[in-house]
Amino acid sequence: MNPFSLSGQTALVTGANTGIGRAIAIAMGRAGAHVICAGRSSCADTVAQIDSAEALTLDFADPMAATGIFADRPIDILVNNAGIIRRDDSVDFSESDWDAVIDVNLKAVFFTSQAFAKAALPRGAGKIVNIASLLSFQGGIRVPAYTASKHGVAGLTKVLANEWAAKGINVNAIAPGYIATNNTDALRADPDRNAAILERIPAGRWGRPDDIAQTAVFLASSAANYIHGTVVSVDGGWMAR
Ligand code: NAP
Repeated sequence: MNPFSLSGQTALVTGANTGIGRAIAIAMGRAGAHVICAGRSSCADTVAQIDSAEALTLDFADPMAATGIFADRPIDILVNNAGIIRRDDSVDFSESDWDAVIDVNLKAVFFTSQAFAKAALPRGAGKIVNIASLLSFQGGIRVPAYTASKHGVAGLTKVLANEWAAKGINVNAIAPGYIATNNTDALRADPDRNAAILERIPAGRWGRPDDIAQTAVFLASSAANYIHGTVVSVDGGWMAR
């Protein structure tokens, strides 16, 4: 048996229509999983690139949106990838932006994981991969809700691992560095911020969604069976500086 294979597994990836989520869905499909590609936007393009996949409409404008989907069928792997960022000076940051970010990035992650676990705990097996951020460790600038939410994701990863590790569920997270996706368009469009970011990345380049995807496959595979509650930085060396 190849310990990195996801053959026979069903994976649900949120935010699978674009960016990191799309890359993870495609990589999990290549590793042999059946992939449920969930998104508020159409995931048809992602589904078309995977041998065995289906699309699911899921909008975390209601953070409880996914709580009903795990009872119907076994889902072995949950990737909590969907996320948003809102930028403003902290002194001006609005309550509506705060609530929107916390709902998608934190509340939905917890209650989707809880629903997944309610179905997976009786089977004694499951893998959760959360997408955290460098802002799970650092403060960032002008992104107070995002930073709070991603520190929260790191904390959730640990508390859920503590509760579920002995029951067969692995909960881990990936902290992507600066990855070229819609999420970072504004940073790459700002020449000063772009240069400052690149100057600090030891690898000397922005990350690509596929850089994250293979780590997600690993954490979802049996090769990671003894890894619990960790946040893996995939950042071109950023945290080493
Ligand atoms: P992205 O291209 O903007 O993708 C974000 C995904 O989340 C999209 O599929 C988006 O759907 C989905 N989403 C947003 N709001 C949603 C909602 N209400 N319901 C359901 N899905 C929703 O950015 P990305 O970089 O791939 O981000 C993926 C994850 O990585 C996020 O959690 C992000 O915080 C994290 N991350 C990214 C970086 C980076 O440098 N790019 C670094 C650290 C962490 P739509 O396309 O419909 O908006």
